[in-house]
Amino acid sequence: MHQKNREKKYYQIRVEWLWGMIFLLTVLSAAELYGILKYFRQNRTEAAPEEGQMRVEVTYDGWRSRLDDTNQCHLCGDSSRIRCESGFDAIGVISLNDWSVIDFQLRKYDTEGNDVTDDRASGILYGNTEALSWLSSGDPSRGMARISMTLPEDARADEDGICRSLCQPCLDKVTASLSIWKSEKEDKEALPLCLVDFQDLELYPIQDWYRGYFIRDYWMEMDFEQSSVSVKAYFLPVLVLAQGNDPAAEEETPVFIHVI
Ligand SMILES: [Zn+2]
Repeated sequence: MHQKNREKKYYQIRVEWLWGMIFLLTVLSAAELYGILKYFRQNRTEAAPEEGQMRVEVTYDGWRSRLDDTNQCHLCGDSSRIRCESGFDAIGVISLNDWSVIDFQLRKYDTEGNDVTDDRASGILYGNTEALSWLSSGDPSRGMARISMTLPEDARADEDGICRSLCQPCLDKVTASLSIWKSEKEDKEALPLCLVDFQDLELYPIQDWYRGYFIRDYWMEMDFEQSSVSVKAYFLPVLVLAQGNDPAAEEETPVFIHVI
């Protein structure tokens, strides 16, 4: 019977090289482990808002007016710019922290009060205040306009300033427009903005759980990014067929009439 005699082999290595290799392997393993742990932790954080978190409504109903003279109200007061423009067929944005008012360039009138719908009516306006910077463009001949706004990071409504500027009924209208929905643990507040319909001074929200709604014949559409908002307005009146019940009229080409 043949028995194989295996000769064991040994490598000679310097002690400091051996410990050096062990150290290197340990460092690499630790780095790998850290990477894996970080990946899982990150994924868990990103998934957190979806995982069983309740949606809660944030309301501002408890705000109370601190305005002594209601004639000074920034919305309905005698010297309010917003009130001065009431009755006009126009929509605007109100910046609640500094009371800037930006009009959508949906209509333009000449000195005699007639609609201007040619090239003279189109234009770009822009402005910059402490509360926001904005750019407004419009094309009245097509009934469309847009206002883009950039606010400071973490912009939130200045409760004290707003409560000192409005009578209680107007403050109630503003706070109603500010209510928002958010995830339970999300740190989120309402944007200090709202829309105003100059015809009846009603206020409408510019908050990110709205994407669009009608104000009379104007379709308002909103896009939100981190600290900027873009609101587009389109004049979309109801179209009515002007053919009535007359059978002879049915053969004619239908005519669409804008109901204004
Ligand atoms: Zn008021």
